[in-house]
Amino acid sequence: MGTNGTFVGNNKVWQRGMAKNITFIVTKDCQLACKYCYLVGKNSKERMPWEVAKQAIDYILDQEDEMREESVVWDFIGGEPFLEIELIDRICDYLKTEMFRREHHWFNSYRLSFSTNGINFHTDRVQRFIAKNRSHLSIGITIDGTERKHDLNRIYKGDGRGSYADVVRNIPLWLSLFPGAGTKVTISSADIPYIKESVLHLYSLGIREVNINCVFEDVWQPGDDRRFEEQLTLLADAIIDGGLYSDHACSFFSEHLGKPLDPELQNQNWCGAGRMLAVDAEGNFYPCTRFAQYSLRSKQAWVIGNVRDGIDRNKLRPFLTLDRCTQSPRRCIDCEVAEGCAWCQGENYDAADTPTIYQRSTAICLMHKARVRANNYYWNRLYRKLEQEGEREAFEAARPKSNPLTC
Ligand code: SF4
Ligand code: SF4
Repeated sequence: MGTNGTFVGNNKVWQRGMAKNITFIVTKDCQLACKYCYLVGKNSKERMPWEVAKQAIDYILDQEDEMREESVVWDFIGGEPFLEIELIDRICDYLKTEMFRREHHWFNSYRLSFSTNGINFHTDRVQRFIAKNRSHLSIGITIDGTERKHDLNRIYKGDGRGSYADVVRNIPLWLSLFPGAGTKVTISSADIPYIKESVLHLYSLGIREVNINCVFEDVWQPGDDRRFEEQLTLLADAIIDGGLYSDHACSFFSEHLGKPLDPELQNQNWCGAGRMLAVDAEGNFYPCTRFAQYSLRSKQAWVIGNVRDGIDRNKLRPFLTLDRCTQSPRRCIDCEVAEGCAWCQGENYDAADTPTIYQRSTAICLMHKARVRANNYYWNRLYRKLEQEGEREAFEAARPKSNPLTC
């Protein structure tokens, strides 16, 4: 899910920190029933009517004075967004003509962003839409790795069949249209043994950038951190021995990871909730999609307004003062490896024992520490090798300066 910017591959985040992220939850339906999906309330009834989409756009564009970010990412999610490609096409046409008509400062500084399961990617309707909007598009296809790993979780909702074959056939077309595209993989407890083979498999499909996150929910079993570290160490060896480090990326390994943070200098919130905006089929606004009811297990949705009455600034107020120190326990503030240890505001809210967003969930703690150990191993080994081969300088000059740690 997004930070305040959209992911476009090659470790670049488009207009990071300068773009407003606005998400249309166009449908709560999906062909798949992924076992780890945090969307607990998926259904085939809640599809966004055109009138709601239009009202949302009119309201948002009317707020030009309030929404002063330089750029905008119009994000479309589901469920599976491409199930609603006609609606999306109509929304995008309207957005473009309205931004132009109003001489809005976002005209020509926008992206249309999609995270899709890839099953309908090849269809004529989706391809027509891509051809029409190509220069403004970011499309991420989610594929979890090898067939065995992917089909462990990403199954059809009707018959429980794995979806790997239907996704992988669209990867060459996707990469031909978006050569720098990266994929996102989500890891939960049962996926740990497949991490190394999955990342290498994705590289072998031609995907050069693999962004992996552990789920934030409290799903971890005793010993998972040790198994996780083992897999990452094996993966580190394979990347280094295979020379893949120069033109492939894996978000598990980042130099900006695992150092202590100075709370006075590095006190910003991790995620973009509150600076982002999401709207659903009923026309309700949320600080991020993770606060819509279909994403929450045990809490009520956090609605901050709707397309008819607008945004209630008071309901947004708690998000504007969120920072690392105000929501973290003492041990996280003093933590020796805090850098890169993520949280999700929506999960914090859902997991808290009171209705607050100021209680950080630390279910990911041991997994982060394991990742830091493997990350240290990776960089130590890689730099030793590069120094022995006299290539360190060339490597440092060639690679991107920052490797953003996204949510
Ligand atoms: S959750 Fe654990 S690893 Fe992360 S900052 Fe807190 S103490 Fe450190
Ligand atoms: S609430 Fe969670 S999903 Fe939403 S932006 Fe923050 S980290 Fe990402």
